Amino acid sequence: MSLTEALIAALGPDCVRTGADIPVRNRQDEAGYPPVEPLALLLPRDTAGVATALRLCHAAAQPVVVQGGLTGLVGGGQPQPGEMALSLERLRGVAVDVVTATLTAWAGTPLAAVQAAAAAAGLHCGIDLGARGSCTIGGNVATNAGGNTVIRYGMARRNVLGLEVVQPDGTVLSGLNRMLKNNAGYDWTQLYIGSEGTLGVITRVVLALHPAPRGLRSALVALSGVEAALALLAELEGAFAGGVQVFEGMWREFMGLAGGTLGLPGPFAPMPEMVVLIEVACPDAAAFEDRLGALLEAGVIADAILARSEAERARLWAWRESPYLMTGMAPRFAHFDVSIPRGAIAAAVEDLRAAQAAHWPAAPTAIFGHIADSNLHVMIPLQDGDPPTEAVEAAVYAVVAAHAGSVSAEHGIGIAKRRWLPLSRSPAELALMRTLKAALDPRGILNPGRVIG
Ligand SMILES: Cc1cc2nc3c(=O)[nH]c(=O)nc-3n(C[C@H](O)[C@H](O)[C@H](O)COP(=O)(O)OP(=O)(O)OC[C@H]3O[C@@H](n4cnc5c(N)ncnc54)[C@H](O)[C@@H]3O)c2cc1C
Repeated sequence: MSLTEALIAALGPDCVRTGADIPVRNRQDEAGYPPVEPLALLLPRDTAGVATALRLCHAAAQPVVVQGGLTGLVGGGQPQPGEMALSLERLRGVAVDVVTATLTAWAGTPLAAVQAAAAAAGLHCGIDLGARGSCTIGGNVATNAGGNTVIRYGMARRNVLGLEVVQPDGTVLSGLNRMLKNNAGYDWTQLYIGSEGTLGVITRVVLALHPAPRGLRSALVALSGVEAALALLAELEGAFAGGVQVFEGMWREFMGLAGGTLGLPGPFAPMPEMVVLIEVACPDAAAFEDRLGALLEAGVIADAILARSEAERARLWAWRESPYLMTGMAPRFAHFDVSIPRGAIAAAVEDLRAAQAAHWPAAPTAIFGHIADSNLHVMIPLQDGDPPTEAVEAAVYAVVAAHAGSVSAEHGIGIAKRRWLPLSRSPAELALMRTLKAALDPRGILNPGRVIG
């Protein structure tokens, strides 16, 4: 009996698809690589099904790629030739426990459904990102996802209390802890958060929930540069302790590209060096406006546009979310998700501008991102005559390394960034990662070639 036949016999014919029956969506993720048809698509219904599938694949030394919502941007869920795909999409559902302020979700539940369940119980999910409608909570934990509200709630890791994980040989590890304190030995769950499907398959997640933020105030602020932005951040954190929910920086080149994409004139004239989108939980609207007025008078900020309705708030967010509309505006885009320590961001931005002037002078280097978290996104719309994407990557990552930054702030390594990982991790750290991989997946069947190769 072939492995596929054994999987059909064990899981049921509706849980295994092959050939043309494999949907197009399971052949690639959002990294943009050409689609690849997996040997088979496995669609277990529960933890026992995941365990059975992995046990059989492990026995046959069959490589498996793990798939959540397939919104990943580094090729982690993209099948490689000869792999079977294991999708968590049928493991869905959420249960909220108001007494412990926790939520237990099946890994394939879309993030938006997790957020909605928390909100329906009067609580708040601390994980949020632009792909919320399609990405899954299992994928969010597997990538240690961040997003717009990391400044307030931290990365996915800080929100996770417990996990259920299936190891590559089919062993189920149940650690659905719902307590804030639990120091009973090693917290093994931490190993799987951000492991990008290379160590085990997450089947259930327990999240700590938060009180729902009240009185969200939004504003777009004009600033002379990143130093002024960081001074503003310190002022806001001092004035509204724990209330700053969003602090998204956008440099002038980004605002120019966004304006072209949206077909809008800039929100401020002349265009300042930097614009920041802020959101602060502050039930007293007047207190928020007074504080911004005082900061304007003190010269910390140059100008501000306040949102007074949901429609105005959406118009402010359109600037920050314009990159989702940019693909197709240039023959090719080089895009980056990197971290630079806050104190070095200003110098790194100047170094990126110098790299542009030297190597791709006609293409704007559009920089934006979660600056409070040290996280910069860089988008470079390259034209046909510009250097190859790899050369642009080498120039950008050299700046990141020179400022002791990280080649991946939130999207992970996957396949796309594997060759750049040594710029951010020492040989000793890489050796430890290989030791962990060999210990937890001795046959190397789970997501081979991702993260550490
Ligand atoms: C429009 C858009 C906006 C985005 N914004 C952000 C952002 O702000 N912050 C951010 O961090 N990311 C962002 N991303 C990237 C992406 O959404 C995240 O990485 C997300 O967490 C991936 O979830 P997913 O369910 O789609 O996982 P997938 O893409 O399916 O998989 C991602 C990785 O996790 C592994 N994996 C998936 N599920 C499991 C599981 N249950 N067990 C073990 N391994 C698993 C996969 O093998 C793969 O390596 C964005 C992407 C898009 C398209």
